[in-house]
Amino acid sequence: MEKRVFDFSPGPAVLPVPALEEAQRNLVVMPGVGISILEISHRSPTFTQIIEKAEANLRRLLSVPEGYQVLFLQGGAHLQFAMVPMNLLRGTGKSADYVVTGSWGKKALPEAERQGKARVAWDGKATNFNRVPKDSELKLDGNAAYVHFTSNETIQGVQFSTEPNVGKVPLVCDASSDFLHRPLPIDKYGIVYACAQKNLGPAGVTVVVVRDDLVAASPDDLPAMLSYRVMAEGKSLYNTAPIFAVYVVKLVTDWLLDEIGGLDKMHALNKKKAGLLYDVIDGSEGFYDGHAEPASRSLMNVTFRLPKPELEKKFVDGAAQRDLHSLKGHRSVGGFRASIYNAMPIEGVQRLADFMQEFCKQNR
Ligand code: PMP
Repeated sequence: MEKRVFDFSPGPAVLPVPALEEAQRNLVVMPGVGISILEISHRSPTFTQIIEKAEANLRRLLSVPEGYQVLFLQGGAHLQFAMVPMNLLRGTGKSADYVVTGSWGKKALPEAERQGKARVAWDGKATNFNRVPKDSELKLDGNAAYVHFTSNETIQGVQFSTEPNVGKVPLVCDASSDFLHRPLPIDKYGIVYACAQKNLGPAGVTVVVVRDDLVAASPDDLPAMLSYRVMAEGKSLYNTAPIFAVYVVKLVTDWLLDEIGGLDKMHALNKKKAGLLYDVIDGSEGFYDGHAEPASRSLMNVTFRLPKPELEKKFVDGAAQRDLHSLKGHRSVGGFRASIYNAMPIEGVQRLADFMQEFCKQNR
């Protein structure tokens, strides 16, 4: 087999090797089934067991309390940008509050405006989205249908370390790029959603954890595929589920439980990994310019610039020689972004930290 490199792509992103190996073993013939995972029915006993285990794993990892549904939907996080206001805002006469901390929060907002009234409760644009707000800065409407925020802005590399306090209004979170990176107090949320292709599995499935009263509120006239109620009643099998993607979510959550030992352990490891890179940035005496303010730094996407753009090609080439790939930042932030999701091994992060230190010494 060709060697694997360390890939720091923002997503689709690295998956745990044990999960890939198990998927590979089952790709031609699943033991006891006679055909592959790609060929079985979504109504077969084998897949029923798989989706039930994936759900049970998620419930265990996040200690999901009674009164919440765990759904496996399609259409990515983008469809959730629309489904949330279709199900919770349209026809209520209320408005929804949006906390805009970066590119993804900004992209969620117009989908709400298509369904009703949306207000911006905070906007980080003035400082190019380099921090998240304090609770005291949020201009919230106590009667809003919900408050939407993005727990981790994948492009800017800013992250909430705890959820904003929004009182009794349902809190809706786009957790696409940091889901399962730490334990979550689910009871503080109305909805948490995450596309799979960063911390959970391959593209094609989106996990939505949603409180029962919000499921019940879905308007009757929604297309079935866009209704949380229909999807919950059908146990995520109203139509053909994305079987392979759900299967890999099961394998990744098995890995989190059995090999990592749960989300407290995963969180500790994530803090350690991110610390390796932020320590190099902070110790570089200004050579590396971190995009996020220290208190808002992401444990998942580490964003930084070099002192001179002329050095960028040299950085990319030097990194590639050490098997460190996909580090280029988004054009709106510039510089570099190291995405170090759950499945990025600490060895990869250490190798990047060593390279950054060496590069700083040679080019300062
Ligand atoms: N929200 C966040 C925080 C993301 O990082 C992404 C994907 N990069 C999305 C939403 C969009 O996800 P999808 O492409 O699955 O719709």
